[in-house]
Amino acid sequence: MATKCAIGIDLGTTYSCVAVWEEQNSRAEIIHNDQGNRTTPSCVAFTNSQRLVGDAAKNQASTNPTNTVFDAKRLIGRKCSDPVIENDLKLWPFKVVSGAEDKPKIVVNYKGQEKQFTPEEISSMILTKMKDIAGAFLESSVTDAVITVPAYFNDSQRKATRDAGTIAGLNVMRILNEPTAAALAYGLQKRPNCAEKRNVFVFDLGGGTFDVSLLTIKGGRYQVKATAGDTHLGGEDFDNRMVTFLAREFQRKHKEDMSGNSKALRRLRNECEKAKRILSYNSEATIDIDTLFNGFDFSKTITRAKFEKLNDDLFEKCMETVKRCLDDGKVDKNDVHDIVLVGGSSRIPKVQKLLQEFFPGKELCKSINPDEAVAYGAAVQASLLINSSHGRNDSKTLKNLALMDVTPLSLGTSIKGDLMSVLIPRNTPIPAKKNGTYFTDSDDQPTVCVDVYEGERLRASENNMLGMFSFEVPPAPRGFPIYICFEVNEDGILNVTVEEKLTGKKQEIAISNERERLTAEEVAKMIEEAEMLKEEDESYKERVKAKNALDECVYKVKKAIKDGKFFSKVSAFDKQRIMGAIREARDLVNDNGVEQGETYQYEKCLMELQSVTNEIMNKINPDGEESGSDED
Ligand code: AMP
Repeated sequence: MATKCAIGIDLGTTYSCVAVWEEQNSRAEIIHNDQGNRTTPSCVAFTNSQRLVGDAAKNQASTNPTNTVFDAKRLIGRKCSDPVIENDLKLWPFKVVSGAEDKPKIVVNYKGQEKQFTPEEISSMILTKMKDIAGAFLESSVTDAVITVPAYFNDSQRKATRDAGTIAGLNVMRILNEPTAAALAYGLQKRPNCAEKRNVFVFDLGGGTFDVSLLTIKGGRYQVKATAGDTHLGGEDFDNRMVTFLAREFQRKHKEDMSGNSKALRRLRNECEKAKRILSYNSEATIDIDTLFNGFDFSKTITRAKFEKLNDDLFEKCMETVKRCLDDGKVDKNDVHDIVLVGGSSRIPKVQKLLQEFFPGKELCKSINPDEAVAYGAAVQASLLINSSHGRNDSKTLKNLALMDVTPLSLGTSIKGDLMSVLIPRNTPIPAKKNGTYFTDSDDQPTVCVDVYEGERLRASENNMLGMFSFEVPPAPRGFPIYICFEVNEDGILNVTVEEKLTGKKQEIAISNERERLTAEEVAKMIEEAEMLKEEDESYKERVKAKNALDECVYKVKKAIKDGKFFSKVSAFDKQRIMGAIREARDLVNDNGVEQGETYQYEKCLMELQSVTNEIMNKINPDGEESGSDED
């Protein structure tokens, strides 16, 4: 009997990857997509006729820049007025507007109409693609999944990612931290059965996010000690620095400012990304773009040294985060046994050099695939969870595996004077539950306002507010105690309970981050819309299939006519009929364009053409001997 599979999805800023644990081979299989690639661009495009996801979307990006959406992960769970988003907006060729509650909405033109999508919806489209890729490989539909997020994602970003999974029709079993997933991949591949405790440092620099984690591995036990990062630092920032520099160079040379031209910027960005990769193994790379802007070509050689200089401060920022993580984990850098590199941008030589200098004498582990390690680890976690949900624990390799993660940010409430009272400090192992007692400020105070924050600043209001609510208290003198309980689950998601013991009133508050998050109704509506879009995609495919079948038939009949075998015996009247049917079919295929022709029109026209051809063929060749037309 086939056992139920669960998949691991690394939903990356630039690329996504899906994997499944294969018990018979004792390893996770990275699943290739329909193009044979093991990673899929996290890119969605909208055209006049269809929606494209993955490679197909990325491949047409430079001809359709304003409707090709990438970087949804940078937007997810954030507000539009977030300063980091404001910076990105200048460089994105697609339009983002501020929707209700300042939630970002991506504006595209789809089938000739303006449509707005939330980052959750765009992410759900990528997740659906990854789910379908896995479904095709496993030859059955899959719904159970573990999705990874940067360890440094906050509560809103985690919940928004979960919502994206729900919209994609996935049962999100766990939101797992990317570096933790990578550590699992590292441990299983490189340190199986390690009896001695090892301190492993994971350095994960991807396309849009940066994470570091310090873990200890012993036997099958993975314990995260500390984590740090930046949810807005990665390969795309390095690309952006190059784009800004080269656009200025172009302006200096040609006195032309391309900054408002999304097509030119997209082409330049693509070339910058390629050049950046070349600079990881070559000391220089040349960017050559024909008619980049206003008829001017652009050619420029950029050296590795220049690239490094452009990004100097960003690379330094990475190293500060490394230091902070070690400090938090209270582990001396000399006691780190393994340094594991993950994420495409960890291939940058300068990054490796800085790390090597920081950990002198230690070898950087580059032997696990940095693009696939996260999905690998997610597949391991998915397998563990699906097995335990079915009461199975018979995996040879994963049997004794245990994973303990931590909270990335401190969680607390504000007290008098706008001070942050931390209930769960950052890097507390999860799941975690902590209680705090707070007191009313005045006699007969009718309510207390409980506001919940995450972050490291002393002033509560400088941290990220997750929620605020009023709790009614019975009449009592000042100093009446209120008990607040913070509980973080395995996904790193917070629940808060407030209680007073005089009347026993208890209020459970799921922090919903209303301002950034989607409401349940919005999610339900988006699921419906996702279904509709899926149907549209299917019907588009059917339409193209019908059009191609008609085109193929026209070609074959015309070829048979041209070969002369068939037409020589046909009467003038029948020739007219057949030519008429061909003309009609050709008009439909050529002139209308696929957007206008409906599937039924192509099918009807095909049937007519086939029936005329068959009837005439039967007339001239009643015994069904070989004729020029080889219609099915
Ligand atoms: P990830 O999110 O881990 O898939 O990483 C993707 C990022 O890694 C993108 O920004 C890529 O441009 C970048 N990247 C991939 N390969 C290289 C390389 N050889 N050198 C520099 N950056 C790279």
